[in-house]
Amino acid sequence: MASPALLMRVVASAYSVAEKAATIVRNVMATGDLGIVEKTGANDLQTKADRLVQMSICASLARKFPKVTIIGEEELPSDEVSEELIEDGHCEEILKKACPAQYSGIKEEELVIWVDPLDGTKEYTEGLLDHVTVLIGIAYGGKAIAGVINQPYYNYEVLNALICSKAAGANAVLGRTIWGVLGLGAFGFQLTEAPAGKHIIVTTRSHSSTLVNDCISALNPDSVIRVGGAGNKIIQLIEGKASAYVFASPGCKKWDTCAPEAILHAVGGKITDMHGNAFHYNKEVKHMNSAGVLATLRNYDYYASRIPNTVKQSLVP
Ligand code: AMP
Ligand code: MG
Ligand code: MG
Repeated sequence: MASPALLMRVVASAYSVAEKAATIVRNVMATGDLGIVEKTGANDLQTKADRLVQMSICASLARKFPKVTIIGEEELPSDEVSEELIEDGHCEEILKKACPAQYSGIKEEELVIWVDPLDGTKEYTEGLLDHVTVLIGIAYGGKAIAGVINQPYYNYEVLNALICSKAAGANAVLGRTIWGVLGLGAFGFQLTEAPAGKHIIVTTRSHSSTLVNDCISALNPDSVIRVGGAGNKIIQLIEGKASAYVFASPGCKKWDTCAPEAILHAVGGKITDMHGNAFHYNKEVKHMNSAGVLATLRNYDYYASRIPNTVKQSLVP
C-alpha cells in the first residue's frame, strides 16, 4: 500500500501530540502551581501549562515535519525543548482513512499549523476545567482544512460525581480528542443539532463588552450560554447545546478559530467574522480576528441577517 498522504500523517500525529498536551494540562493543575503571568492584562493570562504545552506541540510537530510553518499563541524563548515534552506517536485509525483527493498532493512547506496550547486559560485558572481545550489547526492555501480539539477535562463533572457517590462500573473516561478533515468529516463526538426553533446563543464568559451584549440582545435569543474558550464554544454547536456562537468583539485570534473552523466546516457548519467574511490562515495573516466571530452548525443566514448594522460598523476587519 502507498504510504499515507502527508495531511493524514500530520493529523494523525497532531492527535497524539494533543493527547500528550492534555496530560500536561492535567499534570500542571495537579501540582497546584500554575505560574500565572499576565500578558496584556488580567483577562489575558498565560500559565505554566500554556507554556509547556506549546513547547511540546511545536517541538513534536516540527521534529516530524520540519518544513511545515507552525504558529503558536505564546511568545516563548527559543530554548531547547526537554525530551520528556516530545511526543512521537500517531493515531493509527486516522492513517487508515483515505485523504480527500484534493489534499493528497500537499507538501510540507504548503501547510501552516496554528496552535492554541490552552484555550480558555482564564477559566482554567478559575477551576472551570471543562471549558479548556487544546487546539491544533491545519491550513492550506489560506484555508482551515483539518483540525484537532482535545478537551482534557471532558467527563470531569461526571467522574467527580461518580467518585463522590462511590458508584461502581464507571466507564466514563477523562478527556477526549475530536478531529476532522474537510471532505472527510469529523470524529470523536456525536454530531447533534440544536433544538429546532430555539435560538440558543453561546458567547464569551470573561471577555464581554457593551457591544457583545447589545449584539446578543438584538438577536432576541431564547437563552444565552456564557462559557470560556473558542474551542469549547464550537463543541457546544456541534453537540447541539447552542445554535449560534456570537462574539461581536476583537480578541479571538487565528489560533482560536483554525482548528474549530476546520471541524465545524467538515460537518457542514459555517464560521465567519461579523460581516460574513471568511477567515484566512496563511502564515502572513494578521493574528487578530478584529471583526469578531459568528458561527453556526445550521441556519447561518438566520443569524447573519440579523446582526445590526451598528454592530458591524463598530467592528473593522
Ligand atoms: P472567550 O470566548 O472569552 O473564552 O475567548 C475566546 C478566545 O479568544 C480565548 O482564547 C480568549 O483568550 C481570546 N479572547 C477573546 N477576547 C479577548 C480579549 N479581550 N483579550 C484577550 N483574549 C481574548
Ligand atoms: Mg484561545
Ligand atoms: Mg490559549
